[in-house]
Formats: sequence, structure tokens, C-alpha cells
Amino acid sequence: MAQPTLTIDLDALRTNWRTLADKSSAEAGAVVKADAYGLGVDKVAPALAEEGARRFFVATAEEGATLRTILGPGPEICVFNGHMAGDVALIRDARLTPMVNDIDQMLRHVEALPGHPFGIQLDTGMNRLGMEPAEWSALRDIALSQKPALIMSHLACADTPDHPMNAHQLNAFREMTDGLDVPRSLSATGGVLMGPDYHFDVTRPGIGVYGGLPFLDAKPVAHLQIPVIQTREVAAGESVGYGNTWVARSPARIATIAAGYADGVHRIMAPKAHVWVGETRCRIVGRISMDLIGVDVTQIEGPVDQVELLGIHQSVDTVADWAGTIGYEILTSLGSRYRRIYEGG
Ligand SMILES: *Cc1c(COP(=O)(O)O)cnc(C)c1O
Repeated sequence: MAQPTLTIDLDALRTNWRTLADKSSAEAGAVVKADAYGLGVDKVAPALAEEGARRFFVATAEEGATLRTILGPGPEICVFNGHMAGDVALIRDARLTPMVNDIDQMLRHVEALPGHPFGIQLDTGMNRLGMEPAEWSALRDIALSQKPALIMSHLACADTPDHPMNAHQLNAFREMTDGLDVPRSLSATGGVLMGPDYHFDVTRPGIGVYGGLPFLDAKPVAHLQIPVIQTREVAAGESVGYGNTWVARSPARIATIAAGYADGVHRIMAPKAHVWVGETRCRIVGRISMDLIGVDVTQIEGPVDQVELLGIHQSVDTVADWAGTIGYEILTSLGSRYRRIYEGG
């Protein structure tokens, strides 16, 4: 069998969520958008509910409806994209809490579903989603009369704790919400790590739960083992892969492994990428193909059956660096060809 194995450690996931939850006296929610950052919401969400999460966040109403069937009636499910046209039935039937982003969304919501829970998203400077300060002050009294379940905003620079944008957004959020009798939420993983000023009533950790930065103490959750299909000796002067970009300077042993850019091992990584064979780091050679990658295993004695791309030796952020991206993008790019094994939980 030449199928790589993606092992998702649900115990590590639960520990990461618990550790982030214990950093604050606020209620910790859990962000499970994009199929739980690519790791499988059907397994991830129940594990986090088991660990104590009572409030989940997704991007779209469709994701929310899927999550409702997974979690059953108890937990609150908040939708970042708010209440979009056409979402009424999904929001009503799955009992979702849309985080409305502007006056149109709010009117759509209270007219179509009077009395149905909703939250409010405020823009404190990121200019992505939410009501701007002027819009909020015009709408505030009407909005509050409808008893929103949560008021939230989002930090643009929380992965850089000393960035002045953080204090700027904190001030803006306080100015817009101080004194209101509504639970508040400002922080994702980065904000949780910035301390109590940023915590308010509800936190929204995502990437840290999945083992990524900026949560330095995260336990790795995703472990990726890729089988070797074939191993060959190449002589000095022979090349490996498309375009002959890598040429052996001395005799080498090359393993061809069963994953490629179609599996989220981005082509741009090739010059920097490594994998692990047991305790030995081996470099990728030549171009990354759609389904195959060459690995220099000259230093390994004996047969090589499989290599590790993600796990205890290298994190999603290490791999992300090679591609000039972030751990979030590596996780959500992993693709559908892996055999997925869920451990613990
Ligand atoms: C994705 C997202 C989060 C979670 O962010 P992490 O950095 O993954 O912890 C929280 N809030 C909002 C609005 C988001 O879009």
C-alpha cells in the first residue's frame, strides 16, 4: 500500500485546548472552521466538546449545519460570516448564532428570525469583517434591544505581541463596548497568550489547539508518515526528477516517496524541505511532483520503508517556513488522499 498516513492525536489536541483554556478565566470556545483546520471536524469537535468546550466557531452557515449534526443540540455554534442572504433556514434549523457584520445582516436576521440568537462583530481596525465605530454608534441601541448573545472583534497582529496594533485594537474595542451588559470576545490563540487584558468573557483559540504557532508550547497534533515506493542508487552526474534540477555530486541513494503537491507538499518547498527517517534528517532532492518526491537517503543504512514529514521532529510551522507560509495553510492544504488515523480522544 502506497498511501501516506496522517495521524491526528486527539489527546494532544485536547491538551492544547485545555492548556489555552486554563490561561484565562474567560470561557474558552473552539474554532473549528475549514473542517477543523483540515484535521476533520467530525472527530475534532466531539473531542473538544468532551474536553469541555461549549461554544464553537465556524466560518459559514453550511459549516455550522454540519457541525450541529456532529455535536447534537447542546453546544452553541457561532458563524463568523454572519447572516448571509439565503441562510435563514440553515440558521433556524441548525440553531446557529450568526455573528452579524453590518446593519443589513442584522435587519435580515431580526426580521426573518425574531428572537433567534445572534452576535455582533465589530471592526476595530483590521478592516475585514464587522461594524465600523460610526455604524456601531448609530445602530447600538437597536442592536442592544435585540439582546445579542456575544459581541466580538478580531486582532490583526496578535502573533506579534508587541505590535502597537494590539493595544490600538484593544482600546477601540473597549471604547465600543465598555459598560454594555453583553459578553465580549476579542482573542484568538495569539490574544489568549497576550494576557488577561485581552481575554474578556469568551476566547476563540484555533491554531494553537491544532499544534501551531504562536502557541509555542503546543503539542504536535498532525503526524504525517509517507511510504517509500522505490529506492535506487544514482551515480555522480545523474539527475533526479523533472527539469534535472538536482544532480548527484557523488554516488547517492534516492528514495521516491508517495506524496506530492496534490497532497499539500507545496512545490515551492523543495529547495529547503527535509523529512525524517527515524532520527536522521534527510533532504528532499529535485522538484516535487504531483504525487512523488525524491529523498536523499544515502546516509541511511538498510531499507527505508517510510519517512516523516510532520510530527515530533518537525512542526507544521517548520514545514510552513520552507514554503514562505504559515502553519494554518499547511494544515488546511493537506488534501484528501491520506489515510487518516485518529488516536486517543
Ligand atoms: C480563524 C479565527 C479565529 C481563530 O484564530 P487562531 O489564530 O487560529 O487561533 C478566531 N477568530 C476569528 C474571527 C477567526 O477568523
